[in-house]
Amino acid sequence: MEATTEVGKLYVEVDQSVCQGHALCHRALPEIFLSHPQTGLSYTEDTPVPEGLEDKVIAAALNCPERAIRYWAD
Ligand code: SF4
Repeated sequence: MEATTEVGKLYVEVDQSVCQGHALCHRALPEIFLSHPQTGLSYTEDTPVPEGLEDKVIAAALNCPERAIRYWAD
């Protein structure tokens, strides 16, 4: 019998009610964490994190002083 483990894609989002907009995440990973031109808050696209950037996304989440970044795999 063959055992396989499928790793799901990673998704990430910023809680707009918690984000303070100091842009640590945006400076670290601007292709994932976009900065809203009016509010200055960070946000993400509703798409999976591109392969190879997962560790950087998780690091950005851990480094967010407000704990505003949530990530999950589906
Ligand atoms: S580091 Fe956290 S609080 Fe700061 S802009 Fe990014 S998501 Fe918002």
